Amino acid sequence: MVDYIIVGLGLAGISFCEKLKEENKTFIVFDDNSQQSSGVAGGMYNPVILKRFTKVWRAKEQLDLAIPFYKKLEKRFDTQFDYKTPVYRRFTSVEEQNLWFETADKPLLEEFMHPKIHTNENKCIDTEFGYGEVLQAGRVTIDKLQQLYFQSLHESGNIETISFDYDFLKLEKDHVSYKDITSKYIVFAEGFGLKKNPFFSYLPLNGTKGELLTIKAPDLKLDFILKSSVFIIPLNDDLYRIGATYEWNDKTNQATEKAKKELVEKLRSFLKCDFEIVDQQAGIRPTVIDRRPLVGQYPKSDQVYVLNGMGSRGVMIAPYISEQLFNHLENKEELDSEIDIKRFENKYFKG
Ligand SMILES: Cc1cc2nc3c(=O)[nH]c(=O)nc-3n(C[C@H](O)[C@H](O)[C@H](O)COP(=O)(O)OP(=O)(O)OC[C@H]3O[C@@H](n4cnc5c(N)ncnc54)[C@H](O)[C@@H]3O)c2cc1C
Repeated sequence: MVDYIIVGLGLAGISFCEKLKEENKTFIVFDDNSQQSSGVAGGMYNPVILKRFTKVWRAKEQLDLAIPFYKKLEKRFDTQFDYKTPVYRRFTSVEEQNLWFETADKPLLEEFMHPKIHTNENKCIDTEFGYGEVLQAGRVTIDKLQQLYFQSLHESGNIETISFDYDFLKLEKDHVSYKDITSKYIVFAEGFGLKKNPFFSYLPLNGTKGELLTIKAPDLKLDFILKSSVFIIPLNDDLYRIGATYEWNDKTNQATEKAKKELVEKLRSFLKCDFEIVDQQAGIRPTVIDRRPLVGQYPKSDQVYVLNGMGSRGVMIAPYISEQLFNHLENKEELDSEIDIKRFENKYFKG
């Protein structure tokens, strides 16, 4: 008998397990490595939407939980995960500069946007109009975190590296059973894998494929994350992640020539130094039609829950929705109505 079964050890599963650990709950995780959104992600967090210069949904609440969350994990694993790297938005016109000035002055945004325009000093970057700097931004090495987290669960015997077979789940009055495991609750955190889950496949999770390149560019010497038509995220040893693409039809995790070409063309439009492509990766973001997470209860059982729908912002959202779900289950607190899957029940759940 455990308190929780968790299906999926991406960012959502990791955050929820961490909450359970903190609260001394027992759990067992299933992960079959069928989805790789967390493993390939750029790992960036930034509280400003850089297309329109608006605030990210619940930015402050999310950051207030996310920053201590990654710090705690850094301590536990004695490894750095959170690299506080500024994000610079490259401007393409005077109008964009003016819009930046205007929005950086607004009460809800001033803590996240540097009020001055930075001029460019990097010979590899072509920009006439300079940059706006986003404050309280950075990058989390999710791949490293996921590996270490997996390893620690493996060592403590808390993870099964096989597919969860939905046919074997039995829903009882006050618990669930799965093969020889009995649990108070089950939480599904399968990312885009949710599409195969018979309990929650009714939810409007679209999934958006994203691809990223890793390049080596010895002359670039960039020490901030640059956002232009693509992102350039500095890693180490002159390596940079370039991304990402958005593709709505192809739902495979395979890297494509089409995405590579698109990323290289966009990059060459403003990067003036030589580079070599050393890697390419793809994954499916768990995106939702109304751009809000999917959290809550299967309408026919008090024991079955979902934790999903983080779209392209898993780094910031995961600790927030995990805290919400835990408090809902254990402390009977209401879920934030914007993330609660009840919002889709009348329209999509056919019972
Ligand atoms: C190209 C790209 C770039 C991105 N960049 C960023 C970024 O810079 N910043 C940011 O915040 N977010 C970014 N994201 C989004 C972020 O990756 C996601 O929001 C987040 O990783 C989703 O986490 P998850 O745990 O919900 O899903 P996943 O990471 O997909 O994890 C789900 C897990 O469930 C497992 N699973 C599924 N079905 C089963 C089953 N039946 N049995 C057992 N296990 C199962 C899978 O193997 C997987 O490990 C990016 C995504 C992509 C694709």
